[in-house]
Formats: sequence, structure tokens, C-alpha cells
Amino acid sequence: MKELIEAIQNRGVGIGRDVVKVDSFLNHRIDVALATRIGQEIAAAFKDDGVECILTVEASGIAVALTTAQALGNIPVVFAKKGDPRNVSADVYTAQVYSFTHQTSSTIRVDRSYITEGMRVLIVDDFLANGEAIDGLMSILRQARAELVGAAVCVEKGFQEGGKRLRAQGVRVLSLATVDAIRDGQIILRPEEPRA
Ligand code: 5GP
Repeated sequence: MKELIEAIQNRGVGIGRDVVKVDSFLNHRIDVALATRIGQEIAAAFKDDGVECILTVEASGIAVALTTAQALGNIPVVFAKKGDPRNVSADVYTAQVYSFTHQTSSTIRVDRSYITEGMRVLIVDDFLANGEAIDGLMSILRQARAELVGAAVCVEKGFQEGGKRLRAQGVRVLSLATVDAIRDGQIILRPEEPRA
């Protein structure tokens, strides 16, 4: 997606060899116009798939999950919670997720009443790196016997294995921008390809 690729080029920061910092428009301050366009782009790709609900994980997936849900006709957004379990119902699906950025494992939880059997669910997140977050969300969908329509991410890091592994499993993965490498602080983006 051209606008997102430009934003990463102009406003993103490469850290070390494997972290893309997009705090200025996606992860801390949110460029609402860009987030809206991202939602429209994801929605356009999945508009004929009967998506009934968007599933993401707190916190940074929520903004684009919301704009995608709006573009799909205000369907609900469910975000898996990472924080204090006392704040969530006891009747939950859980999964363990190892965080690439925080390098810690945490339990994510979703109230069982929000994802129901047969529900057609699209996973949306900001980044796809090793695929741990999406694996955790897919585990929750399996527990709920819901149907995974696909997974859409703003940025896929093509030098990590998540995207390859998920596609090999038959998951339909849409990424709006792919980072191929980070060299000397410079983010190397893959030229835009026609959509699958
Ligand atoms: P995965 O679970 O695919 O290994 O990593 C994806 C999750 O980790 C995303 O939810 C995202 O929040 C975070 N993440 C992974 N890599 C990056 C990165 O390079 N930059 C940022 N900002 N977040 C990342």
C-alpha cells in the first residue's frame, strides 16, 4: 500500500537489524487518516468473505482493527487482553504468546461469549514477525470453533519466518507493506506487489 510504504520510508526508524519503529504514526501517536486508509485497504481485500468479526490483540492492533471494522460496515472488534486477569471474565479462551518486542511470554485472554462457533473472523494486527501473536489468536479461534477467514497486517517483516509459515499452513495472509531488511538504520522495503 503506497501511503503506508511512504510513511515507513519517511517516518519509520530502523533499530538494530530487526526492529521497525513506527511510533510516530502507528504505535504511539496514530495518524488517523493513514489508519483509516489502512482499514479501507484491508476491508477491500476481504469484502466478499462474509467477515463477521475482527480479532486483534491489545494494544497496537486495536486502531487498525477498528478502521477495518468500520470499513466492513461496523462489525465488532474483539481484542485479546494481556493484562490483569481480574479485569476479564473467568470464562475465557487463553493462549500463550511470546512477544518479539518485549521478549517475554504472556497469556492472552478472550471472553468466550465474544467469539462463537462458526463465526467468520478476520485477524488484524500491526506487525507480523515470527507469527507468535497470530498463532495465539488462531489458537483462540480453534478453541471457539470459529472460522478463520485470514490474517491482515500492516507490516510484515519478510526476514522473519511468520508469514512464510502461516502461508504454508494455508492461512490467507495480507500484508500492506513488507520490510526485507534493516541495514545501518535504513529500512529496506519490498516493492509493492499485486495482491494475492
Ligand atoms: P510476532 O508475534 O509475529 O513475532 O510479532 C508481532 C507482534 O510483535 C506485533 O503484535 C507487534 O506488536 C510486535 N512487533 C514485532 N516486530 C515488531 C517491530 O519490528 N516493530 C514493532 N513496532 N512491533 C513489532
